[in-house]
Amino acid sequence: MKKFGFFMFLVVIMIAFPKVADASSYNAKIYLDGQQINLSSGVKVENNNGTVMVPIRVVSENLGFNVGWNKATKTVTVQDGSQNVTMVVGNRLADINGQSVQMTNAPVLRGGTTLVPIRFVSEQMGLQVRWDNAQKAVYLTSTYGEFNPDETTGSNAATVDGLVFDENRLLVAVTGNAKANVSKLSNPNRIVIDMVNAKFSDTFGSNNNFDEINKNGQFSVSGYPDVQAVRYSLYDTNPMTVRIVIDLNHAQNYAVSGLEDGSGLLVVDLNATSDPVPSPGTSGKKLVVIDAGHGAHDPGTLGATKKKEKDFNLAMALKVEKLLAKEKNIEVVMTRTTDTFLELKERAKIANSLKADVFISIHANSGPSTASGTETYYYHESDKALANALHKEIVKAVGLKDRGVRFGNFHVIRETTMPGSLLEIGFLSNKNDESKLFDSATQDRVAEAIVRGIKTYLKVD
Ligand SMILES: [Zn+2]
Repeated sequence: MKKFGFFMFLVVIMIAFPKVADASSYNAKIYLDGQQINLSSGVKVENNNGTVMVPIRVVSENLGFNVGWNKATKTVTVQDGSQNVTMVVGNRLADINGQSVQMTNAPVLRGGTTLVPIRFVSEQMGLQVRWDNAQKAVYLTSTYGEFNPDETTGSNAATVDGLVFDENRLLVAVTGNAKANVSKLSNPNRIVIDMVNAKFSDTFGSNNNFDEINKNGQFSVSGYPDVQAVRYSLYDTNPMTVRIVIDLNHAQNYAVSGLEDGSGLLVVDLNATSDPVPSPGTSGKKLVVIDAGHGAHDPGTLGATKKKEKDFNLAMALKVEKLLAKEKNIEVVMTRTTDTFLELKERAKIANSLKADVFISIHANSGPSTASGTETYYYHESDKALANALHKEIVKAVGLKDRGVRFGNFHVIRETTMPGSLLEIGFLSNKNDESKLFDSATQDRVAEAIVRGIKTYLKVD
């Protein structure tokens, strides 16, 4: 890298997507982790024979990758960690860490700007890329953060066999083991059902309105005043995910049942009038288990100035413990109070065997150096209310970017039998986040926020 003497340069990269014919400037939208990226003024997005081009400014500023440009050799490099992608203008062969790989389109020059294929680049850099042809939007999803060994692929995916809306309920017939994540969104009001580890069955299209090429379809609903239409699409391929959206006429509560009982039928019932509340404990006091992530020989992620995640997690957890100990209606149990190591299954086992009411695992994130902000993870549908309650308070207390409440397949929140959340308070890989996270006053505020979130969720004084 160094020998080329690279300098940052405006490079425009292209997004390959199917079935678009027009060839000039193009109005594609780009989303990273659900947030739309604002393109700087004067930046032209271009569609080149089925390929959308966007500025590398987006890649360096929003995705945080290092971009190099050698004018003499017309060579573009994109680098992050140990991953190096090298491309040359006019050459469809790219070099990935020394290996030659063919791209759909060669990089091209437009005036003073170089264009390279974004789908190719993004996927090589570990991002998931999805093109929504209806919305003309590119969705990039970063997969950094906690290592996620259980991510499912298509090979063993369950199938969605059929969909029907009847008696104000959506019924989804499923074969195999899929996970349904259901959430309510506004503007416009809709209920989103993500069937994780599921794809459409081969016969789905013969019984439903379905575009076999774009893998999507919809039907309108009449006779039910709450609902306009039901849409469905293959939303992601890693993990294989079918997304079903119920378009509502107004905000509407719902209840989810099925799948867990092995019936193969997911029911989203709009006749429900209120959200479920946590069941009261037997002892009177609610039991909260606080888990400081990592420990001992497992440092977690290393920060921008090499501070260790395990130390942040423990400091944070001890502050939460101290505050919870003062609560008359809450009992607190820690998975660790010193720099020791526990297996993930031991952490879950502690909470499960104590029949805790709430489990909270405290972590800090890592990613490209520009990535910043707070994320809160749930696994089970029943974890979501807790995650929402915690996230709202934590975001306010940390004062970093709100990266949202997210589904995450983490062992400790998957295997725990009570509502659980995994908190990623900020990015240690980001210098500003790191200094905030290790600031004692910030930690105090976050600890108070976590306690407020717990109390709100448990409805205790
Ligand atoms: Zn961690």
